[in-house]
Amino acid sequence: MRSLFVYDGHLCGACSYCCWALKTPVPRFVPSGEVIEEEVQPANTACRWLRDEGGCAKHDRLPEGSACRGYACPWVLTRIPETRRLVRLAGGITYPWSAHRPDVFQSVLAEPWVEARGVMPLVPDCIPAEKAIELVRRTATIPAARSRRDIHGHVVDGFDVALERLTASADLEAGEEIWEKALREAGLPQAA
Ligand code: SF4
Ligand code: SF4
Repeated sequence: MRSLFVYDGHLCGACSYCCWALKTPVPRFVPSGEVIEEEVQPANTACRWLRDEGGCAKHDRLPEGSACRGYACPWVLTRIPETRRLVRLAGGITYPWSAHRPDVFQSVLAEPWVEARGVMPLVPDCIPAEKAIELVRRTATIPAARSRRDIHGHVVDGFDVALERLTASADLEAGEEIWEKALREAGLPQAA
């Protein structure tokens, strides 16, 4: 998702999840430093410009208007007061969603049994991280953000949160019951 405001990455901390998880056009450079073209980085693959210690090796040279420059993931949007209201449940109710940072789930989503690619987790942080990771493994599902699209298929401002299947055979209905039970036990506040 492209953000509609300038975001400088100050909330990301040690996270580089989007540079691993998302299918993204990233620039190629010639030795002089000029951008020659873009290539598509596959989902669930570390970008060639991702430094071992985290962060983008080309951060200062990313072209204006590139997909990477100014990117803010749904988790970031939940941390910014102006965009928090965009988070809503599937029924259309706006909701103050407070989630674990996406990289909490990078290891489990990189495990070989996971078939889904490019998942953007948005798991309520009222469920402790260890418990949430256990639920991901047990149900083969994860609460995740999906870009909202208009009737023409174009991504519009905002996103929805829904349970995402991580394998083709995952039982979504059973997963929903288990996640909902965990949310109730964790004291998820009721929507207004
Ligand atoms: S996934 Fe979100 S929090 Fe993590 S680096 Fe990307 S924009 Fe920042
Ligand atoms: S070019 Fe930089 S910001 Fe873009 S995906 Fe690669 S490492 Fe991340």
